[in-house]
Amino acid sequence: MKICWVGLGRMGLPMVSHLRRAGFDVHVHDISAMARAAAEEDGLTVASSLADAARGADVVFTMLPTGDHVRKVLLESGTDRLVGPRTIFVDSSTISPSEARAIARDVERDGRQFLDAPVSGGTEGAADGTLTFMVGGAVEAFEQVRPLLAAMGKNLFHLGGTGCGQSAKTVNNMMLAMNMASLSEAVVLAERLDLDARTFLDVARTSSGDSWVLRHFYPIKGTVPTAPVNQDFAPGFTASLMRKDVGLALDAARSHEVRVPMTHQAAELLDRLIAAGQGQLDFTALVKLASGEIDSGPDTLTTPAAD
Ligand code: NAD
Repeated sequence: MKICWVGLGRMGLPMVSHLRRAGFDVHVHDISAMARAAAEEDGLTVASSLADAARGADVVFTMLPTGDHVRKVLLESGTDRLVGPRTIFVDSSTISPSEARAIARDVERDGRQFLDAPVSGGTEGAADGTLTFMVGGAVEAFEQVRPLLAAMGKNLFHLGGTGCGQSAKTVNNMMLAMNMASLSEAVVLAERLDLDARTFLDVARTSSGDSWVLRHFYPIKGTVPTAPVNQDFAPGFTASLMRKDVGLALDAARSHEVRVPMTHQAAELLDRLIAAGQGQLDFTALVKLASGEIDSGPDTLTTPAAD
């Protein structure tokens, strides 16, 4: 079985490395020479072109920034015409459910199938092979690629037809963005109230303020080793990509008539971070808004001082 993998970024490279280590025949490609060099160093077979990676492939994985990139790689570059007759396309990028359905419509012909299979767990989960996969598409295709997904992830969910995986991912990241925005404000307040950060973290971890972001991304240096704050917010998951995901949630909420003022607020905070030229930092740099290092704009929700 020939596997083609396109997209060797912060998630793609550690993910595909698990496939190689599990013994699969993987041919990888990325437009970035730096990404290709890193893959070569990792022992991966780097194809000389996208076409070489895709030619005759039985499974094609994409791990790219946006839906436009996925469409470009799978359709506009002609990958869909080079692959095998019963190829399964597996897109693990985070894109909108409607984009996933539109791409599926265009690539699924003559027995070829498309699965949307976005992931959660971050670069840590990608490196450890403990990602959660949220998959939409034909259940038979899901079962066929299950061994591949199992080499990269610990929790594999089939959620329904095409687009359902992306729907789950959209909602998950909507929660992640809001959780991080609220954690950012809380930790800065805790600091200004002179609470020792490590002790307060232990309190919150065993109290009702506990959350996944608290345990993995606590944005105070020297508390949680995996938190991007310890590497000056080197990503991780960039603020720009998180803004894309919050935009997907806002679009979905709009078309399904859900009121989401908190999600709008998270989008605005990310916009301010990006406008300050920090969109390529990890999204946990949101804490810079709470601390005042970056202007967070008029604080419309501040309670006026009591007389
Ligand atoms: P990234 O920017 O680090 O990597 C994207 C890679 O795609 C880059 O190496 C880039 O050169 C390559 N690329 C772009 N256009 C290409 C093209 N036309 N042909 C070939 N390669 C191309 O991004 P990432 O953080 O790895 O995220 C990838 C996707 O996964 C995004 O949709 C993101 O939202 C999602 N995601 C990211 C995380 C995270 O923690 N970073 C977690 C879950 C999901």
